[in-house]
Amino acid sequence: MSMPNNKSLLSSFLLTNEVENPDKYKHFDRVAEITVWVAVLLTVLNTLTPFGEALRNTTSYLALASVGVFSLIWFRLLARKISDRTKNLLYTIFINIILGLVVFFTDGIQSYAIFFFYISTVIISMSTPFKHTLIGVSLIIAIIIAQGFFTDGVLTTNLSLATLHIWGILLTALYGRLNASQAVMVRTHHNEVTLEKEKSLSRLKDEFIYIISHELKKPAQSIEETIKKITSEYSTSLSTDGKDLLRLTGVNNSRLNKLLNDLQDLSRIEKGSLPVQLGDVSLRPIIGEVISTLVLDAKEKRIALIQRGVEEVAATADVDRLKEILTNLIGNAIKYTSEGGKVMVEASKEGKFARVTVSDNGFGISEEDQKHLFEKFYRVESEKTKTVKGSGLGLFITKQLVEKMGGQLSFKSKLGQGTTFYFTLPRYRW
Ligand code: ADP
Repeated sequence: MSMPNNKSLLSSFLLTNEVENPDKYKHFDRVAEITVWVAVLLTVLNTLTPFGEALRNTTSYLALASVGVFSLIWFRLLARKISDRTKNLLYTIFINIILGLVVFFTDGIQSYAIFFFYISTVIISMSTPFKHTLIGVSLIIAIIIAQGFFTDGVLTTNLSLATLHIWGILLTALYGRLNASQAVMVRTHHNEVTLEKEKSLSRLKDEFIYIISHELKKPAQSIEETIKKITSEYSTSLSTDGKDLLRLTGVNNSRLNKLLNDLQDLSRIEKGSLPVQLGDVSLRPIIGEVISTLVLDAKEKRIALIQRGVEEVAATADVDRLKEILTNLIGNAIKYTSEGGKVMVEASKEGKFARVTVSDNGFGISEEDQKHLFEKFYRVESEKTKTVKGSGLGLFITKQLVEKMGGQLSFKSKLGQGTTFYFTLPRYRW
């Protein structure tokens, strides 16, 4: 809910309940309905006691019945359809006129039914905007002044009692209004403090992720270099088991490196500082290069990894980021396709944009999962995907990268049939 920005007591006093919030009106309706029914019930019960003698006449029974019927129509039938500011104001005016009649037909200014005006004032001042409070309270005061000229429905001036009630009503309105505005101020302050706390916690979390991933990358990179060195210089002196272990360590270390890079990108995205350096690039050779790094993964699963289209397409992009995007999409297509499947990559021109399509005939994605696919850390949980390793960050980062370079990422998928991801990039700088 939006709150008044200026936090001074005066502005809260004037602005409280100004906010257009349909829930507020529903709340008003509910409170007003309960109050009216309790008041009607109490009045009926009161007529049965010795103190309720003044109410034991046809007029007050008629007034009570009309309040009852009116409330039934107003709250039960109309409330379902409309619940807004104007309805509240009309309700306020109507119910106070009826209260005025009840007072008039009982003891006039001496009637204890005047008490209902106090209840009405509390509800109006606490739940309606300042203008409506003014209208409602002015109406009540006008009715009380009018009653001051009648006692028992007879023209007898009794203005001193009327003045006393007017003071009472004014003070009640002031108290109700102050109370409501103070509640708003407390809530606003509470919301601001909570928001600030959340922001600083989130900043701290981003910093933490960034520092951890940054620090862990150094040893992970040095492990990678060591593995490369052992593979190139000492592989002849390794047994087959040793070579296998080295290869496994390499695979796991690459996963670690990828995760650390993703975490770093994530914290950059959260901070709004994801750097991209745009330049003119030819898509075909870059797609070819990425495919060559993934060919072994595809081979292991006997997946045909095909680059389609012969047309040369240029785009404006950050080469390294583009490779990251392609690695994520083609890597996913291989990961989420069963053995013997097919993955195709194609670049084409589409007006002012270059369009890259990565399609597979793999697991496919259910409609429910499709809704969450670009959320960070979202992973599909199914029998088929549970053995596939991943962090759920790839698509989130890919989408941000594509958009950062001025393109769009989208996909089409059918469960059990396959998935096609496609993204665009501007062909020219403009
Ligand atoms: P990760 O692969 O690390 O889990 P991603 O963000 O790259 O994270 O992908 C999120 C989820 O989307 C994956 O867990 C996977 O279930 C689903 N997904 C992504 N690409 C494909 C695809 N080509 N075919 C089927 N499912 C996919």
